[in-house]
Amino acid sequence: MTPDVAQTKTSRRPRLELDRITKRYGKVTAVDDVSLSLAEGEFLTFLGQSGSGKTTVLKIIAGFETCDDGAVRIAGTDMARKPPRDRDIGMVFQNYALFPHMSVADNIAYGLRRRKWPAERRRARVRQMLELVRLAELGGRSPRELSGGQQQRVALARALACEPQLLLMDEPLGALDRALRLDLEQEIRRIHRSTGCSVVYVTHDRDEALALSDRIAVFHAGRVVGLDEPAQLYERPPTGYVARLLTDANLAELPDGTALRGDVADIVLGGRTVRFRSTATRTAGARLAVPRTSISLQPQHEGCLTVEARVDDVVFLGEHARIDLDTTVLGSLIAHVPMHQTSDRIIGETLRIHIDPARCQVVI
Ligand code: ADP
Ligand code: MG
Repeated sequence: MTPDVAQTKTSRRPRLELDRITKRYGKVTAVDDVSLSLAEGEFLTFLGQSGSGKTTVLKIIAGFETCDDGAVRIAGTDMARKPPRDRDIGMVFQNYALFPHMSVADNIAYGLRRRKWPAERRRARVRQMLELVRLAELGGRSPRELSGGQQQRVALARALACEPQLLLMDEPLGALDRALRLDLEQEIRRIHRSTGCSVVYVTHDRDEALALSDRIAVFHAGRVVGLDEPAQLYERPPTGYVARLLTDANLAELPDGTALRGDVADIVLGGRTVRFRSTATRTAGARLAVPRTSISLQPQHEGCLTVEARVDDVVFLGEHARIDLDTTVLGSLIAHVPMHQTSDRIIGETLRIHIDPARCQVVI
């Protein structure tokens, strides 16, 4: 094999593979048969509620925790016998975990020193990292002289300094207030683009997951229940759980007489049969996911489903208003409409609302 071919083969291998990982703590199955892979340079987010197993998987990848079943491979190499320090992984946690007695620059240089980089090269790298996270002037400070957001930038610089094969981040913005969170989220996007590092990112915040990720793995009770690009998961949630978690979609009961036909469902609504996409394999327990933004007070296009609804409440939320509706055919629905299209004078009125069936889906 020529070196060129070998090179191509290596770079095509996934950076990280999780192969049927299971972890139990006594009777609790914290991680239940999780398989996924991360391409080189990819930004993958684990999104899920507290206790869904995200951190445990991250610890297993890093080698801080062993799994009961399954394998972790990094760039094709099985990690079973590798201690954490030999895995070539950078990590950032929620609570900065900087060394308080070292300067910012020494914190960033820590891993480089351990790897015995010569002083000159080390200094150049620290400078480069400080510039990357826009803290060029602050290398001499102590961590306690920095704000929370700045400390998290230093943690990021420290994690990236050795050019790890993999960067793991566990709720890194969790301790910051909203403005700082949005700010640092932008920074993380920029740094990921400019370094091309491969990232596994953990969060329970869906907006963060949607804004940052190439792909999102949705965790629920130790399992991955959805894995796709953000737009795809958002518009085509595989289950009702994912629809709720990602979009707060309405999940309406299916009326009697609903017929599932492969990947479509025919539903009789107000005397008319309407065809929806479907990922459900049975009608028992299935629901119609109706995104809040698929409902309009103004007529949309011809294919729209028009139904009568009583307006129970209108709440202004900034750019859009939330409207609580009561319909005869689909029960209670919540709509999000642009603010300029509504007013609270409609509370108590019965009016016609328009639902775009192309944005709805039958799910289990
Ligand atoms: P997440 O990061 O999604 O909030 P975790 O991975 O921390 O979830 O936890 C998953 C489940 O495993 C939870 O039920 C948690 O209580 C349990 N768990 C995690 N670590 C331990 C541990 N060291 N001992 C016992 N149970 C644990
Ligand atoms: Mg966690």
